[in-house]
Amino acid sequence: EKNEIILKRQRSAELFEEAKQYFPGGVNSPVRAFKSVFGPPLFIKEGNGCRITDEDDNTYIDFCGSWGPLILGHNNEAVREKIVSTVARGTSFGTPTRLGNELGKLIVDHNRFIDKIRFVSSGTEAVMSAIRLARGITGKSKVVKFEGCYHGHVDSLLVKAGSGLATFGESTSAGIPESFVKETLVLPLNDRKALDDTLRAYAGEIACVIVEPVPANNGLLLQDASFLECLRLKCYKYGVLLIFDEVISGFRVGFEGAAGYYGIQPDIITYGKIIGGGMPVGAYGGSHEVMSHISPDGPVYQAGTLSANPVAMAAGYATLQQLLAPGFYEGQEARTRRLVDRIQHYADRQGYDMHLEQIGSIFWIAFTRQRITRADQIDPAGMEYFKKLHRELLLRGVYLGPSGYEVGFVSAAHTEADLDQAAAIMEEALDVVFAQ
Ligand code: PMP
Repeated sequence: EKNEIILKRQRSAELFEEAKQYFPGGVNSPVRAFKSVFGPPLFIKEGNGCRITDEDDNTYIDFCGSWGPLILGHNNEAVREKIVSTVARGTSFGTPTRLGNELGKLIVDHNRFIDKIRFVSSGTEAVMSAIRLARGITGKSKVVKFEGCYHGHVDSLLVKAGSGLATFGESTSAGIPESFVKETLVLPLNDRKALDDTLRAYAGEIACVIVEPVPANNGLLLQDASFLECLRLKCYKYGVLLIFDEVISGFRVGFEGAAGYYGIQPDIITYGKIIGGGMPVGAYGGSHEVMSHISPDGPVYQAGTLSANPVAMAAGYATLQQLLAPGFYEGQEARTRRLVDRIQHYADRQGYDMHLEQIGSIFWIAFTRQRITRADQIDPAGMEYFKKLHRELLLRGVYLGPSGYEVGFVSAAHTEADLDQAAAIMEEALDVVFAQ
């Protein structure tokens, strides 16, 4: 079976060998290296609708969607045309543009949870800026994060829970000074007592609590709405700002993201992925008051050469505009629900030890029947199942992100027929995985 992979991926394998000469690990972002799944990474040359094609001319139904941005699928016609017509007039000016206004207006007019927004170029940059803003406003320095939430490669957030009861974390990367780690407190998700104890003890030093309201970077750890509501109330009570990191959930679980989905008003919201329609864009937003602290209005500095790049603004606008079509999110949810239900019924009939989590067009396969709401409930042994599943799916033409901790995304370009085809492949692949 190893040979089967090599035969299917000869060109990708060659390109990967070449890439290793130029890039650390052969990649420009680590998970792309396929370290936790079989074979060399796929080198993708083209995407259309819900399908991607690799350099060996294999085509796959894609559930990664460039890790989330492509809610309309690959090469959406309106998005492509808007990008092309924009790029024909130049790529970057480092000045304000009308296109930036248009995207800003589209977002702010249709989002009750922010009055103003600042565009940056990645999710990491959005989070980094939001943390600085929270610190600038409160004059405090500590940040509370949750274990199992990812917020980009921001120094002080590459921290996981330490051992024992200590709430101070340990860094998950070399190169992060101990003094930065000390400014970060790590809590388990869905644990009100830990939250309350920590806020009570450290409120005077805590600038903000940051959370992925839909934690989707360590499996899909869907929270009880009551936990998120409690988080909101506790932050008000202790004078701590609440940041929703909506880099994944923003424009995904609804146009107003998780804030709208749960009806919770955070103080700052970060966005990325979908907001740029497949181009490098991130953003953060808040009330007029909160955003007035940002330079040049206020003392919190933040800037960017390519911020609100016109081509990226055009892609974002052409994407978000389509999401406002009546019934868009209901349709996404319904098609995803149908896919998830079908696979779940099959797994149940076969007696396979797994279940699928879903919210909107996001899904995740867990190799247990228990509902999982915290990172430490995930049994790493499940990742062996995922590894096999990933291989069997690739051999049959379905692409999931190359890690069992990553979620899948259904796009508007996945028709019911595409999803039926993917489900049939998934069932076959699961039979192989569970037969071993
Ligand atoms: N926050 C969240 C919730 C994310 O999922 C990600 C990326 N997966 C980031 C921040 C970082 O975004 P980027 O990769 O664009 O820097």
